[in-house]
Amino acid sequence: MSLTIDRDRLTSEIEALALISEAEPPVVTRVVFTPSDLKARAWMKSHCEEAGLSVREDAVGNTFARWNGSDPSAPVVGTGSHVDAIPNAGKYDGVVGVLGGLEAIRALQQSGFRPRHSIELLIFTSEEPTRFGIGCLGSRLLSNTLPADSARKLSDNDGATLDEVRRKAGFAGELEQVKLPQGYYKAFVELHIEQGPLLERKQVPLGVVTKIAAPASLRVSIEGSGGHAGGVLMPDRRDALCAAAELILAIENTARSSGTIDTVATVGICDVFPGAVNSIPSRVRLTVDIRDTDLQRRDRVMCIIGDTCHSISAKRQVTVHRELVNADAPADCAPTIIEALAQSCRKYDLNFIPMVSRAYHDSLFMARIAPVAMLFIPCRNGYSHRPDEYASPEDIARGTLILAETLAALSQ
Ligand SMILES: [Zn+2]
Repeated sequence: MSLTIDRDRLTSEIEALALISEAEPPVVTRVVFTPSDLKARAWMKSHCEEAGLSVREDAVGNTFARWNGSDPSAPVVGTGSHVDAIPNAGKYDGVVGVLGGLEAIRALQQSGFRPRHSIELLIFTSEEPTRFGIGCLGSRLLSNTLPADSARKLSDNDGATLDEVRRKAGFAGELEQVKLPQGYYKAFVELHIEQGPLLERKQVPLGVVTKIAAPASLRVSIEGSGGHAGGVLMPDRRDALCAAAELILAIENTARSSGTIDTVATVGICDVFPGAVNSIPSRVRLTVDIRDTDLQRRDRVMCIIGDTCHSISAKRQVTVHRELVNADAPADCAPTIIEALAQSCRKYDLNFIPMVSRAYHDSLFMARIAPVAMLFIPCRNGYSHRPDEYASPEDIARGTLILAETLAALSQ
């Protein structure tokens, strides 16, 4: 089998898809179920059909483009990613995995390869949380991580529910039917830009992902007692911001002392009430984002943060209220797919490193129902989610070649 990736075609398709956007080029904004998202979906569908793939969409708009294998009843080998983009984004996040996946299939077709297992390109609905406040909507439903009942309650900023919006966009049927059965996939591989600087820094063209980290997030509110900044003397204070400061540093310290660099914790929002120069802060609201590749270690950090909240509350006479917003489990990639990717790299004499995906992707949720792995390519300065996001045509073509070779190995 000799594989040829049509780099020029792939590059021009990435450019063409980037023009389907709610913002002026080079900015890409494509929020789920807006006119530009629907136009991008139609554009993708027609390209898949041109390649002879049979296209099916589910009730939430996840799109499956299938190349039938010689044994259509055998479990499917999947690849794919997303085409939705946050406001003010770039051209490559998600798109490289979708158009690269399509090009990989076309390269395999052209080489004369015939798969035994069907190969399916999957375009996930709403990987980005922009509209409904929750990321990876499509893959959460496919993996039943998000039950249909909870999904129905989601609504956007205008108060429109997911159910209304998706039906209006033309996706009928019940959300219950989105979930895929265990065993549907033999393997799922996602090609993606790294969204970090390591590959570029090490000058390595490919990263084989072995683990996908996952976030847990908390909302913390601290109630103390306000008052006049001059009138209330220090022994009488119950300053909510001072309590928050102590908590924030304790959170940082807990993550730093977990024993590995894989634990990260961030307080990204700190709202202070009433926020006046001469008023003691009476109330503070914080958000805490904790990520790790190991669920037990992350949960241990969450426990320590909980204990710290109690001790600060007792010591400073403030009320600390904690609310768990969400806690997704990290995933390990499947050794068989990692090995298939590594072998493909070796075959083409391409250097690669094992990597941890620090951002999460649809593959994190697909890992609940399928063996998964991911392949990363470098992106300039590690930039992503911004208009100057860039991956070179050479790097994209290399990633696509390794993806194609791996899909061939897995689908035999
Ligand atoms: Zn992405």
